[in-house]
Amino acid sequence: MYRVCVNEIVQLLESWRAALEDEKKRIRIFLQVPEGIKKQAINVARCLENKGFEVVVDVEPCFGSCDLPFHRAKIEGCDVILHLGHAPLVETSGWVKKEGLGVLFYPVKAEVGREGLSRLIDECVEILKDKGTRAVSIGATVQNVEIAERLRTELEKRNINVFTARSSRTALEGVVLGCDYSALKHVERRIDVHILIAGGAFHVRGAILNLKKPILHVNVEERTARFIDFKEKERLTKQRLILVEKFKEAKCIGVVTSTKLGQRFADPWKVKEALQKMGKDIVIISGDNISRENLEGLEVDFFVNLACPRLEEDKERFPNPVISWSTLLKYLKVIDID
Ligand code: SF4
Repeated sequence: MYRVCVNEIVQLLESWRAALEDEKKRIRIFLQVPEGIKKQAINVARCLENKGFEVVVDVEPCFGSCDLPFHRAKIEGCDVILHLGHAPLVETSGWVKKEGLGVLFYPVKAEVGREGLSRLIDECVEILKDKGTRAVSIGATVQNVEIAERLRTELEKRNINVFTARSSRTALEGVVLGCDYSALKHVERRIDVHILIAGGAFHVRGAILNLKKPILHVNVEERTARFIDFKEKERLTKQRLILVEKFKEAKCIGVVTSTKLGQRFADPWKVKEALQKMGKDIVIISGDNISRENLEGLEVDFFVNLACPRLEEDKERFPNPVISWSTLLKYLKVIDID
C-alpha cells in the first residue's frame, strides 16, 4: 500500500553524509516510523545495516513530523533521525539548528495501481458532474500528492478548474495535516467542492470541522470516493458545543501541554491567566505522550488540551472531558489572551 524504497533512502543518507563538514565513516540512524508503516521498520533497518549504516528503531508512538525524538536519538548516540512517512514542518530547520542533530524525511508514497487510480478518477468525475461542479480545490496528505497531481490533470482535461494553496505548517502546495487545512481554506471562496485525498477518517473529520464547503473524500486505502454533505458537520459541531457547555460548568481545569516540539499550540502560562480571569482554578500538566495512564488519578474536572488539537477526539485518552484550546477559542469568543 505504501511504497518504501530503500535505495532512495540510501541516496538521501549519502547526500546528507557528503554535505557534512568532516565526512563520517560510520553513521548511526535513529529510525522513526509512524504506526501505519511500522511493519516495514525491521526490513528497512536490516537493509540499511547491510549498506553499512548503524540503525536504532524507535518504538515510541509517532503521529507526525511535529514529534521529532531529538532527546532519545542523542541518548542512543545517533547522528541523524530518519523519519519515514511525513514531510518537514516549517519549524523543523530551527529545531535542527538548536538540537545539533541531522533530520531526514522520507515521505512514503501511496500506491493504488494504474487501474485502481483510473477507476477512482472516473468515480470522482461522475460525482462532480452530478453535483454540477465547475471548480474544486485538491488537498492531499503528503503520501498522496502524486495521486493529487494525476487527478488535477484529469479534471482540468474535463474543464473543471482546480485550485490549491500552500499549507501554512509545511509550506507545501496542496498538502493537508490533521491540524492544518490552510491549503484548502485559502482557496475556499473560489471553489464549489473540496477534494480531499487521504486514507482513513482522521483527516476527513478535521476537514469537516475546518472547512465550509462540501467535501469529496477520496479514500486511497479503501479505493472509494464519497461525497460528504453538511449533516456530518452539524453532528460534529453539536458534540463540540456540548463540550463547551461542560467546560463552562467545570471548576478545576488541567491545562495539558506536551513536550513534543511541534505540539505546543499555546503558551500554557498565558492560557492559565486567561482561564483564571474566567474564575477557573487552573493547574498546568505536562507530558510527552498524552495518555489516559498518565492522566488517570489527577483530581481535575476537565482538561484543556494545548497539545495536538486532534487529541480531543480521542476520548479514551482522557479520564475526564477534554477540549482543545483552538476549539475553545473558536466557540468561546470571550477569552482574553494576548
Ligand atoms: S499536531 Fe497532531 S495533527 Fe498536527 S501534525 Fe502533529 S499529530 Fe498531526
